[in-house]
Amino acid sequence: MSEQVTCPECGARWQDSITCREHFERMLAWEFEDPAGAERVHHLTVLCYGIQHPSLYSLHGLAEAKALLVAFVERGESPASVRRRNRQRLDSGRRTWKIAGTAALSQRPVRWPVTVAAVAPGDPTGYCARVEAWARSICQMLGEQD
Ligand SMILES: [Zn+2]
Repeated sequence: MSEQVTCPECGARWQDSITCREHFERMLAWEFEDPAGAERVHHLTVLCYGIQHPSLYSLHGLAEAKALLVAFVERGESPASVRRRNRQRLDSGRRTWKIAGTAALSQRPVRWPVTVAAVAPGDPTGYCARVEAWARSICQMLGEQD
């Protein structure tokens, strides 16, 4: 009998001892083999994984990652346009990202409806759509927390 292990960060079950990190690396390998798919979802993959594993980020970085994901998913911005806008914002010295509240949020466990363990397994076909659904589900949760 195998022991049931759960990710301490995102709450995913590590079925067959496959960790979130291993799922993530598998997804990156697919993206490496599929440049068009990577172009479409790589920025989402990295943000979704990071937001659900916030120990990868500083508090500031986590707030920034959440703002980016919302910009991509809810406002339909492209990575290029976000980069341009960020550059202007950083140049002007104005910080518009939200920092307050993140500390409390990161201490409250979130019950994510979709985790990397649901996105990575399966066929590479449909992988992009799974990542996009994952990103939408995270944005929805972020909206409910505010
Ligand atoms: Zn996890």
